[in-house]
Amino acid sequence: MRVYKFGGASVATSEGIQNVARIVSQCQDDLMVVVSAMGKTTNALERVLDALMIDDMVLAQREWDSIIAYHEHILDQLALPHEVIPIRTIPELADKNDYDFSYDQLVSTGELISSTIVQAYLAQSGIECAWLDMTKLLRTDHTYRDAKVDLSASEQLLREAVAESAKRVHVLQGFIGGTADGYRTTLGREGSDYTAALVGNFLNADSVTIWKDVPGILNADPRLVKNTVLIPELRYSDAVELSYSGAQIIHPKTIRPLENKRIPLFVKPFGDPQAAGSKIHADAKGPVQVPVYIWRKNQVLITIRPKDFAFVLEESLNALFEIIHRHRLKVSLIQASAVTISVSVDHTRYVAAALTELASRFTLNYNEGLSLLTIRGTTPEILEQERQGREILLSQTTRRTARLLIKETHTC
Ligand code: ASP
Ligand code: MG
Repeated sequence: MRVYKFGGASVATSEGIQNVARIVSQCQDDLMVVVSAMGKTTNALERVLDALMIDDMVLAQREWDSIIAYHEHILDQLALPHEVIPIRTIPELADKNDYDFSYDQLVSTGELISSTIVQAYLAQSGIECAWLDMTKLLRTDHTYRDAKVDLSASEQLLREAVAESAKRVHVLQGFIGGTADGYRTTLGREGSDYTAALVGNFLNADSVTIWKDVPGILNADPRLVKNTVLIPELRYSDAVELSYSGAQIIHPKTIRPLENKRIPLFVKPFGDPQAAGSKIHADAKGPVQVPVYIWRKNQVLITIRPKDFAFVLEESLNALFEIIHRHRLKVSLIQASAVTISVSVDHTRYVAAALTELASRFTLNYNEGLSLLTIRGTTPEILEQERQGREILLSQTTRRTARLLIKETHTC
């Protein structure tokens, strides 16, 4: 059994979906096909929600209509009827003022629509396959927008559904799940990779493949750096480090479920299915040999100092991280001195509330608009070069890894 995950870019056009069918038809094994929302649909659905939040129904409807029109255009090109789209009107939101809850009820429609279209097209192409509803099979708690998966319940539900359908190929949604009482949830942006890994783990897959619009895992983002090289194989631990540092290639949560069962993860180019791509597995030889550059954008650096000038480490660490955890901030870097602690976090909509709370307890400084550059396998020369002409607010270096927090205007 294999798991193939196709991201939004892979299913953004009718040609993309036809390519999915070609790739799927070349696999003779049992196959779980995990799909993301098509193209930039998730962003578009976020705009619908933003419009609903400010009661701009005209704008919400306009954004929604263009999402439907985009999918209908793809259906036309695939010679499928518009009725394939399972949700045609903006879903009723029980409590529009609860942003996170509403987000999940609305934004999950992107994957429900894309998976339905992909299943319909595969079936039309002669590939017998069943559609699975992950809002019923991936059981989560109620942490909307960052739902925690109930692993044992989900494993059982998924196994039963697969056994019952008795099809060789199944099409299902990444990114979304559901609570026991029937509400839809999402796992966090880019969460489809994580779904693919969980499905691989639950069903003891032989491998998981993430099909992408890049040749595999590169040592830097080709949009930012010239002369990138492909990393043909990586150990799980290296892959975790890379994705955590901000490499956009795989979601950080993807690795653990695979590592636990020693399931290899392939990252392959969607446009060239025969190419080797990159393989992440337990037996990969040694650390990655080339320097790897990873950008994590849109960071906020928060520095706290106890108001009474107590020694910060002993007394404030717990309070700081309790606040960070409760406001769901994602920490990318930590640094402490005797009287201050600095953390950099992703700039999300939760940051403002966390800052207000921190300011009531500590003396607080913060800087927005930063990027964290991590260089793995660095040398003093590389570091010197990267520092030049940049305003660096904080840096951390060990023998082989450097992390620079940089003012964003200077990054690229
Ligand atoms: N569609 C979701 C997103 O854009 C999930 C994913 O693509 O992995 O974040
Ligand atoms: Mg994606």
